[in-house]
Amino acid sequence: MLNSQKASGHPATEAFLPGRTNRKTMVDPYETLLKKAYSHVTEPTEARERFSVPEARSYIEGKTTVLENFAEIADTLRRDRDHLMKFLLGELGTAGKIDGSRAIFNGKFEPGLINSLIKSYTEDYVICSECGKPDTRLVKDDRVLLLRCDACGGHRPVRKRKARTEPVVNEVTEGATLDVEVQSVSRRGDGVVRMGKYILYIPGGKPGQKVRVRITRVSGSIVFTERLPS
Ligand SMILES: [Zn+2]
Repeated sequence: MLNSQKASGHPATEAFLPGRTNRKTMVDPYETLLKKAYSHVTEPTEARERFSVPEARSYIEGKTTVLENFAEIADTLRRDRDHLMKFLLGELGTAGKIDGSRAIFNGKFEPGLINSLIKSYTEDYVICSECGKPDTRLVKDDRVLLLRCDACGGHRPVRKRKARTEPVVNEVTEGATLDVEVQSVSRRGDGVVRMGKYILYIPGGKPGQKVRVRITRVSGSIVFTERLPS
């Protein structure tokens, strides 16, 4: 088995046809030629190399967050739109709706968070853990949801992952200890972690930093923490 995954960063995260994001280039003859050229290229041996998850394009609009290319993502992953939506709503701990090719979530969520959720979904519900390929299907066996791989024939139960860096929402109580990954920085210079409807403030936290914190105070959706040695 080839093992050519590039360990650093995310291989081929960018869409392989950059023009896809721009309506104008869709009719560009160059684009057409490029597509034609691609279609004549022999298939790469590693499916993973031609598989790319579209970068989530989301923006905050009023009190909601719009995921503009929701349908495109679901279609690329070849997963049911409702299934993807249910996952996103569950992880964000909010309500929302599918609106044509977009998804709309109640609440303000940063693009980085939406993107990391799409990546989690891809890992959990799309990529075969045996061979790393995306040529899989979700099948129900008794009551267990299985990810079955068409490429290697492998299958595994879908993990009901409750957090590597995203703890479940009911852990948000005063005195609780959490391991979190700082997502951004507030205007006052505190690290920020969004968890469902909660916003955690981590004193001195920097984006990407993994920290252990204790919740000192919960005020509505605002959560204050202190850092612990991890
Ligand atoms: Zn496989």
